[in-house]
Amino acid sequence: MSIRLSIGLVAHDSKKDDLVAWVTKHREFFDHHELWATGTTGARIKEAQPSFDISLLKSGPLGGDQQLGAKICEQKLQVLFFFIDPMTPMPHDVDVKALIRLSTLYNIPMACNKGTADLIISALIMENEYKHY
Ligand code: PGA
Repeated sequence: MSIRLSIGLVAHDSKKDDLVAWVTKHREFFDHHELWATGTTGARIKEAQPSFDISLLKSGPLGGDQQLGAKICEQKLQVLFFFIDPMTPMPHDVDVKALIRLSTLYNIPMACNKGTADLIISALIMENEYKHY
């Protein structure tokens, strides 16, 4: 993998199993990138994939989403995978909205569900193969 990206990973509680299974399915890809995750999501991923270069921020409700937003403002994050639970009210909903807003503002490829995540990762893998050969 030639380009090393800085990638954000977040999942709401009911989506954490899905995200862990999804990054595990794509572990060859994620093994080559710098990963940043909110606290609980990151701990779950680290447990499943100890080889990942993953840094844990604060838990989402304690400011982790805002920390990811700050990294986007500083142009230190290039892609965001955020598996959202659309059915449960969140105490930190304003932080979630702010993170989505900043991703939109800074034109960050952002997936809020697995379908979009599949498309983004396919594009990233294909682009790398194209550049490599
Ligand atoms: P968590 O935060 O990974 O610490 O659970 C995610 C969120 O709810 O924003």
